Amino acid sequence: MSNQPTPSAKIEPLRKPRPCPECGHPSHREHYPFCSDRCRSLDLSRWLKGSYAIPVAEDESNPEDDGRF
Ligand SMILES: [Zn+2]
Repeated sequence: MSNQPTPSAKIEPLRKPRPCPECGHPSHREHYPFCSDRCRSLDLSRWLKGSYAIPVAEDESNPEDDGRF
């Protein structure tokens, strides 16, 4: 059962259009995986902001001030 011709060149499937993670629009090849440079910088700034915003864990209950002793 070898009546299938062997392909000389492997045909690569087209890259699936991926929606822009910022706005959901189809991503642009130049700004992949974003649709535009604007969305790329938006995502970057958000990422940077997120890294700067360090959640402060303020524990109000003091374990040493238990009052059991
Ligand atoms: Zn976008």
